[in-house]
Amino acid sequence: MTVTGNWQRTARAAMLLGDDGELRQTIFAEMSGLAVRTSAINLGQGFPDEDGPPEVLEAAQKAIRDGINQYAPGIGMPVLRNAIAAHQERFYGLAVDPDREVMVTAGATEAIAATILALTVEGDEVLTLEPFYDSYAAIIGLSGAVHKTVPLRGPEFRLDPDELRAAVTDRTRLILINDPHNPTGSILPKEHLQLLVELAIEHDALIVTDEVYEHLVFEGAHVPIASLPGARERTISISSAGKTFSTTGWKIGWITAPAELIDAILAVKQFLTYTNGAPFQPAIAVGLGLADSYFADAASTLQEKSAMLSRGLVEAGFTVSKPEGGYFLIADAAPLGYNDADELCRLLPELAGVVAVPVTAFVQPERRAEYGSLLRFAYCKKFELLQRAADQLSSLRR
Ligand code: PMP
Ligand code: GLN
Repeated sequence: MTVTGNWQRTARAAMLLGDDGELRQTIFAEMSGLAVRTSAINLGQGFPDEDGPPEVLEAAQKAIRDGINQYAPGIGMPVLRNAIAAHQERFYGLAVDPDREVMVTAGATEAIAATILALTVEGDEVLTLEPFYDSYAAIIGLSGAVHKTVPLRGPEFRLDPDELRAAVTDRTRLILINDPHNPTGSILPKEHLQLLVELAIEHDALIVTDEVYEHLVFEGAHVPIASLPGARERTISISSAGKTFSTTGWKIGWITAPAELIDAILAVKQFLTYTNGAPFQPAIAVGLGLADSYFADAASTLQEKSAMLSRGLVEAGFTVSKPEGGYFLIADAAPLGYNDADELCRLLPELAGVVAVPVTAFVQPERRAEYGSLLRFAYCKKFELLQRAADQLSSLRR
């Protein structure tokens, strides 16, 4: 039986619809499967291999024991909405009304989906950076909007201001950025954030910012685009507890935005999940209230991990980008004589017992050649595992 429907739009947009009409797995699921089958070290899918803060884990267990096991309010439990508002004020000086300008979601993934579905109509343009996180293309495709991109080019993965200016037009409904950036590990310089805001104002576009790695910035402090002059009233800020507290399996995310935008997004969100993760919500509220040292340590430990993996990859013969934040770095396999990262990623378990992800999975087909020899490695793993991966990768030097 041929099954037709909207799944084809989303699968095609996510570049997961094969020529045979079959749905392929996401690159993360495929590469995690490969790692399990081959017992290789999984530096593909980005998830930590250690638990987060014990206070947060204990608070979830207590919530379950205390009977917080039924539906939470659709917009999120007051304790978490208050904690999110307090967090925005504490870290960024952003005053947010916890009752009208905050919404809890099933991870950043649902926040992204509900936002795009709620705020676009067929034919609207959504501009993203490229490479882009996989769910952006999938949901833009599902919504019937048109996906436009502006490239980030190595070695620093910066955008070109002229290309950005050319890409934003009166057809642009949403400018969707991701900062710090997955997969490149780059951070948008303040002058590029400013230009984005100017262009959004000029063309009356909304800004959507995915800041799930906001606390994993290596030098200086994270600058949320919503804190720039003129941005707040047109910005939907998305984040998630998964990366900050090493709880990717809990799927607690959130949106902060002006009340009218929250209302519009809630109209869709309430029929996606309605609500999720009741006992995890008070636990993440505890996490958001942890001392400054927790957040600083999380970032500095990850920076050390990035440096350790980078050294190993350089010794193995890769050219490696310097990540500015987040979970990932980019390694170019061309100096080793491998120009097809897609193929190398499939061989890597056998060659070195390691799994990575080809950057081509994050770009549109017409840009594949430009990013063809690049691999994304996750370094959100224990030091000893990263060291072992680095040792094994040294066998690639020929
Ligand atoms: N955006 C980016 C850039 C991500 O890397 C991820 C996943 N790690 C998500 C969104 C999804 O976050 P969540 O797991 O909270 O849905
Ligand atoms: N965000 C994770 C990554 O980029 C993967 C999450 C997923 O599998 N969808 O690796």
